[in-house]
Amino acid sequence: MRHLFEARLVNDPFGDPGLYVDLRDEGRALLFDLGDLAALPPRKLLRVSHIFVSHTHMDHFAGFDTYLRVVLGRKPGVVLFGGPGFVAQVEHKLRAYTWNVVHRYAVECVLDVREIGTDGRGQRARFSSRTGFAREPCAAFACSGDLLHDEALFSVRGRFVDHEMPCLAFVVEEKPRPRVAKDRLAALGVGTGPWLRELKAAILAAAPASTPIRLRWRDRLGEHETIRSVAELTELVLDVAPGRRIGYVTDLRCTEANLRALAPLLAGVDQLFIESVFLDADRAHAQRKNHLTAWQAGQIARAVGARAVVPFHFSPRYGGRAAELAAELRAAWSGPQTLPDAAGAAGQEGPDAARSWTRAML
Ligand SMILES: [Zn+2]
Ligand SMILES: [Zn+2]
Repeated sequence: MRHLFEARLVNDPFGDPGLYVDLRDEGRALLFDLGDLAALPPRKLLRVSHIFVSHTHMDHFAGFDTYLRVVLGRKPGVVLFGGPGFVAQVEHKLRAYTWNVVHRYAVECVLDVREIGTDGRGQRARFSSRTGFAREPCAAFACSGDLLHDEALFSVRGRFVDHEMPCLAFVVEEKPRPRVAKDRLAALGVGTGPWLRELKAAILAAAPASTPIRLRWRDRLGEHETIRSVAELTELVLDVAPGRRIGYVTDLRCTEANLRALAPLLAGVDQLFIESVFLDADRAHAQRKNHLTAWQAGQIARAVGARAVVPFHFSPRYGGRAAELAAELRAAWSGPQTLPDAAGAAGQEGPDAARSWTRAML
């Protein structure tokens, strides 16, 4: 069955981190991190409706200018999410340029910037090309638990991990998908069309049975249009399948506290993109640099029950040795578990537990 998302790393695993999640049937995309974006052609950047920035180290944020340059004057806007200080950091980026002509562009470009605090509270500001990107304060951005963004077809969750600074780990989740029996369409005398999405959305939203759905379709006899109620159409629906979940985790140390933060976010994730910066032989170095080894990444993937795992953010020191890093990750993911499991981690609180586990890892 066709899924809502197609997720791909922006760069090869030695390049800047970033994940492009294409919502093919929606004609748009989500982007996680704003590092080097040269690999994304303008048509792909123009599809991006929401950007999620894990943290603002340069390899995750230097592409902001590239993105803005492509969309300015061509796209009405984008929503950006980031961690503490994010609104001010976007504002500083914007202040670095002179905006004396952009107010005349036919297409206004609005950046809707949402900052998530480590206390769960958010703030929000708007920057419009019409006003030279002057900061316009908005009402506080409401976060409900780890839910950052919610739509009819999908949602995005985020939780902070420790990278010697707060860094956001993300999961994008497809909502459950009603599956339609195509052979029952003919029996009902109707054809496929965009109305199927409307029907699915109505079913997911538990719309009243009398809700009308306008059916439009085209076949060799031409255009057709009719109206049926949700009740008349429910016989088309075979079942409701669970949606896919994709995790994007980068820039963190291997600590028990981080595993505790990740476990509820990533449990049973279908596809996990996770940084694997160093080989485990260099574990002490990885700890000093606040990054994971490939082995640690694989163990985290195993602990959370990831069904598939993709490594990235390889250190340039391993140039030509990508296969070694990937093999180490896979061995840890499929082999015996040495990290505490999620339940065990959740039961141990406080820095002493984290320290003892870190010692065990070293
Ligand atoms: Zn990084
Ligand atoms: Zn970083």
